[in-house]
Amino acid sequence: MTFFPLFHNTQQLKALLIGGGAIAQRRAKSLIDAGVACDLIATAVSEHLTQLIQTTGGRVTIDAYSSDEVMLGYGLILALTDDRCVNQQIARHAKAMGLLVNVADKPNDGNVIFGATIDRAPLTIAISNGGASPVLSSILRQQLEQFVPKAYGQLASLVGRYRAQVKDVLPNTQHRSSFWHQVLQGAVAEAVFSGKQDEAESLLINHLEEAHSHPDRTMGSGEVFLIGAGPGDPDLLTLRAFRLLQKADVVLHDALVSDGVMALVPDSVERVYVGKRRANHSVPQTGINQLLVDYAKQGKRVARLKGGDPFIFGRGGEEIETLAQQHIPFQVVPGITAASGCSAYSGIPLTHRDYAQSVRFVTGQLRDGTVNLPWSELVAEGQTLVFYMGLNGLPFICKNLIQHGMDPTMPVALIEKGTTQDQRVLVSDLTHLPAMIEAEKVMSPSLFVVGRVVDLHDKLAWFTSTRDV
Ligand code: SAH
Repeated sequence: MTFFPLFHNTQQLKALLIGGGAIAQRRAKSLIDAGVACDLIATAVSEHLTQLIQTTGGRVTIDAYSSDEVMLGYGLILALTDDRCVNQQIARHAKAMGLLVNVADKPNDGNVIFGATIDRAPLTIAISNGGASPVLSSILRQQLEQFVPKAYGQLASLVGRYRAQVKDVLPNTQHRSSFWHQVLQGAVAEAVFSGKQDEAESLLINHLEEAHSHPDRTMGSGEVFLIGAGPGDPDLLTLRAFRLLQKADVVLHDALVSDGVMALVPDSVERVYVGKRRANHSVPQTGINQLLVDYAKQGKRVARLKGGDPFIFGRGGEEIETLAQQHIPFQVVPGITAASGCSAYSGIPLTHRDYAQSVRFVTGQLRDGTVNLPWSELVAEGQTLVFYMGLNGLPFICKNLIQHGMDPTMPVALIEKGTTQDQRVLVSDLTHLPAMIEAEKVMSPSLFVVGRVVDLHDKLAWFTSTRDV
């Protein structure tokens, strides 16, 4: 390793920037943002940079670099002129005075370099590749950014406040380490990530009290993540869903969760299929609710994966009701609902300034051969209807919409296995779609969209790779 990472206390660092170009501007901004006091010497400097330095109490001197005397009193020197010889001279002088010095674009001329940083203050991640490729560092930073939740800083602040107290309460290093693992990977961290600071703090205090009375007992209480898996394409999973899947002990999934999404679950995670198909429930809903409770009570992190969004025709509400009654920590991770996925992947916008000012998600599930729906509201102009679970009831639904006054030529699109490799889009109208789905042998999961927006499919679907019928 040629460059060793050290983190400087910004309150005690004073920097002198020599040079006033674009790099100086960038460096000044990041140093000042971090709280470093900066002065600048340059033969020419932009108004913007001058203001940046001066508004934070810094001094701007219009002059050429002439002697090392100007460096007195600084801890960090940045050689940023466009003259390499001058920069080398600055670096030599600074090093002779025992100062930290960075030279623009010449990592080895100075003795420190700037890394790419991820700021989750007080948590900071710095990446360096010894100056070989700043772009590579920046690409790596972008990738890491996605996997370090924004709230990590808040988590660090919270645990920082309790560090000394935990040390007093748990003097044994092993107990303390296991306590912190539980806190940082368990319900406390998740509460912080989902914006529940107060709940996180009280959970931490409860854990600590419990650990104080029973330091040998594992403090791990289980928790449940109710995760929306999206409509099929695994790319549509949210970053949070992906992250939680990586730390789950067990995943409960159902028929709508695609193989592609399941492939993102680590092999070490136990999988339990609780799939439901119409009229063929492999595990009844109450059984699923109870399973979640049982696993969590065994101290497990349970990921409950549901197709689409858990709160849209997903019975997610019932599952968390049981968890709440049993005081089991949980969080709900929204997913892309089938209507959004199918709409995007078939080029049918759900609303449109000219055709639909509202959209309505409707369940088309048949109960005793009938669908009890507010037909007169559904036939209103200017809205898009999306029918979930409506494949079997489709002929009945189309007939009723016409009977209640909807234009029999109203366009309808049926989207089968939306967002997956096998997506099919059938476009027709209220009168002809029932015969079409019969002939095409449409499979589940499918939904259909009723409304003028369907006409846009021809115009907008050219970019999709799906099969149109
Ligand atoms: N919670 C889910 C919906 C569950 S209800 C969500 O938010 O998407 C199940 C119904 O959703 C299916 O009967 C079907 O109508 C619809 N559906 C789910 N995934 C689908 C897909 N990939 N393509 C088309 N329809 C889908």
